[in-house]
Amino acid sequence: MTPTVSIQPQDALYWNKIRNDFPILQQSVNGYPLVYLDNAASSQKPQQVIDSIVHYYTTYNANVHRGVHTLSQKGTDAFEAARKKVQHFIGANSEKEIIFTKGTTNSVNLLAYTFSQQMLMPDDEILITAMEHHANLVPWQMACERTGAKLRVIPMNDEGELQLDQLDNLITDKTRLISVVHVSNALGTVNPVKYIIDKAHNHHIPVMIDGAQAIPHQPVNVKELDCDFYCFSGHKMCAPTGIGVLYAKQTWLEKLPPFEGGGEMISDVSFEKTTYNELPFKFEAGTPHIEGVIALGQAIDYLENIGMDAIYAREMYLHNLAYEKLNTIPGFIPVGKAAKKASVISFLIDGIHPYDLGVILDKQGIAVRTGHHCTQPIMKQFNIPGTVRASFAFYNSEQDVEFFIAAIKKAVKMLS
Ligand code: PMP
Repeated sequence: MTPTVSIQPQDALYWNKIRNDFPILQQSVNGYPLVYLDNAASSQKPQQVIDSIVHYYTTYNANVHRGVHTLSQKGTDAFEAARKKVQHFIGANSEKEIIFTKGTTNSVNLLAYTFSQQMLMPDDEILITAMEHHANLVPWQMACERTGAKLRVIPMNDEGELQLDQLDNLITDKTRLISVVHVSNALGTVNPVKYIIDKAHNHHIPVMIDGAQAIPHQPVNVKELDCDFYCFSGHKMCAPTGIGVLYAKQTWLEKLPPFEGGGEMISDVSFEKTTYNELPFKFEAGTPHIEGVIALGQAIDYLENIGMDAIYAREMYLHNLAYEKLNTIPGFIPVGKAAKKASVISFLIDGIHPYDLGVILDKQGIAVRTGHHCTQPIMKQFNIPGTVRASFAFYNSEQDVEFFIAAIKKAVKMLS
């Protein structure tokens, strides 16, 4: 569904109505109205998504795919309808290319394991970037340890932008895959992934994109990007935890071996030999996270009803509002100043430990994240212990920004 009218980022009436869909936001924390600015870690859930879970368990809970009875068929229809929604949401060619996983981490592990089994030889190279989340670093490191392949890294500059002028030198005839984060969770940098994908494809190298921080905040079309693999998590896009997606081009899914063995992923089993199920089921062993998939479909309906362009504009409006005000606070040090950024502000206040700032903000009802954000190599490059990260979602308000800035000013006074 696309919105019939284009929604303006400052349309208070519209966005207040949207905010009211999120029951958790109506509470006080430590005696203050909750200001939830930890959206990059996990998003909140609208009532419509919560209701879809209750509806599933109260009306058609049953295992999917193998039952002839009515409830099982209803569950299977809803489950497969959600797969179609994901397919359309990201512009994939076929629902066979949508593999349900536990989340981004699980998706990357699935790919790193199966890809390394089939494609990696000693001295082959996997190219990642200096700003990867550990989820798109450690699984490749493990794959390299298993196979004798080597991990190489595209560096980034002090602004938090990839140094893509080095790409030509880093791509060699040993490069087997490039894996890149679309939007950095720690810096907010939006990487030019289309440029990297086109360059890689000129050398016949496949590309995986970690889309955990992109898919909830901007339109993503995997066909236009022409990426070979794309991973994301439901819980960052208004769906429950424990559900995620690995998109992969069908040709790759046909080529790669299964990840886990068990029920559902088989076609025929005997003690002598097992043959595998057709796509996408070859990669979905065992009973899936049924209500998670159904609720993910509902979350996609919800986001599409607002429109991803409107969501992006709203979040950047809130980001810019907050950034301008933060910039006037003495000692404010932004970490990550890329020209193209998402709605994440990672920062330090000179002379104050990020953890201390986070604790004082929490006492005023402000939820931000502090620490290394599962990106220790970034912190090492900047030689800092961590940052404070405020990340905005479309359901945040101008008042959230105001309270956040006032709370920081108070904390700075207390801690200086
Ligand atoms: N990649 C990025 C860029 C992330 O921000 C995250 C979550 N912080 C992940 C991967 C891992 O996602 P999950 O924990 O949902 O598997």
